Amino acid sequence: MKEILLCKYGEIVLKGANKRYFEDILCKELRHRAKKHGNFEISRSQSTIYIEPKDDFADMDGMFESAMKTFGIAAIGRAAVCEKNLEDIKRVTREYIPQFLEGKKTFKVEGKRSDKAFPLNSMQLSEILGGEILEVTGGRIKVNVHKPDVVVKIEIREHGAYVHAGQFRAAGGIPVGTGGHGMLLLSGGIDSPVAGYMMAKRGLRVEAVHFESFPYTSEMARDKVIRLARTIAAYTGDIYVHVVSLTKIQEELVKHCDEDYFTLLLRRYMMTIASKLAADHDSKCLITGESLGQVASQTMEAIAVTDNAASIPVLRPCIGMDKEEIVEISRKIGTFDISIEPFEDCCTVFTPRHPRTKPVLEKVLVEERKLDFDALVEEAIEGAYTVRAEAY
Ligand code: ATP
Ligand code: MG
Repeated sequence: MKEILLCKYGEIVLKGANKRYFEDILCKELRHRAKKHGNFEISRSQSTIYIEPKDDFADMDGMFESAMKTFGIAAIGRAAVCEKNLEDIKRVTREYIPQFLEGKKTFKVEGKRSDKAFPLNSMQLSEILGGEILEVTGGRIKVNVHKPDVVVKIEIREHGAYVHAGQFRAAGGIPVGTGGHGMLLLSGGIDSPVAGYMMAKRGLRVEAVHFESFPYTSEMARDKVIRLARTIAAYTGDIYVHVVSLTKIQEELVKHCDEDYFTLLLRRYMMTIASKLAADHDSKCLITGESLGQVASQTMEAIAVTDNAASIPVLRPCIGMDKEEIVEISRKIGTFDISIEPFEDCCTVFTPRHPRTKPVLEKVLVEERKLDFDALVEEAIEGAYTVRAEAY
């Protein structure tokens, strides 16, 4: 029996005259993803995207999983295809539906006829097919029109007829790439992968920069970050991760600057380097996992000092979230277990004993001027290298 995926748009339906633009990017993304799973045809009609396998080797489960993580799709129906005549619809219903009713007590059938040329109306369809299901399940399951455990949908569209048992809630959001590019500051922590996921959900194509401090940080710490990038890539698409060493900068800071300002100074270097990389790679904003008040470097005063070193807007989607809320998303997207692996981060190697929580910019700048800021930034960028993190 041939199955098909029917993908329903989320917010795209509200886009008015721009709807086509969003649809085109979404279909392109789905076609790109489909390549991994075999031979599929992707088409659209009546505000639905159809994903159809073209041969028996196409991996329907893999494609379904991937479509469930594609932003722009709000819900996916997985359905069996039938010919547009009652006999075939009955046959498919009897063969396909019982598997979805295992262990359930009640069901109802919802017929939907958008092709008005079909001789039976929605009510008639529901009644006839409800009867078929009662018969094939031998009385193990009953009809309940008010609160059924399963809703079996029969749709008669111009395109064809479909029998499906329920819809699956998908990733929502708007298609990746419709909002341009953003440069994510990706650490090995819990928050920044979540931040990247959240901004991709709003249409940004994410690229990443990771700062390391080898040999104070290990290769394992870097490997962990690449695994985090590969995990969110299931949603964002493949991610280029630019790895930048801060070793020299940190050693210079330790030698010449007031310890209380280490973290702030380091974060200003990060913002400056990330802004320059963003400009080189056509990213229009930076993205961080900062959450107001979470640590000393995330008080409003500290954020203002850090922000001042960035030359493009800094998006902080976690800013108003509690740690618990961020953790909940990280569990959902599969990054949590990786994030809690205990490897050191460059921010944790030379941490001040008494970090400033209410820094004043002028004083930070006095410390910053003790080093040749621009030269250190240039040197760090020259030493950067790039890793492509592909979804698993
Ligand atoms: P996270 O859980 O994302 O690491 P955090 O709560 O540990 O965040 P900080 O270490 O203060 O907070 O970092 C704040 C933000 O700065 C991070 O969310 C991330 O965007 C960025 N950042 C911190 N360390 C790095 C790093 N080594 N490489 C790239 N970005 C970093
Ligand atoms: Mg961190």
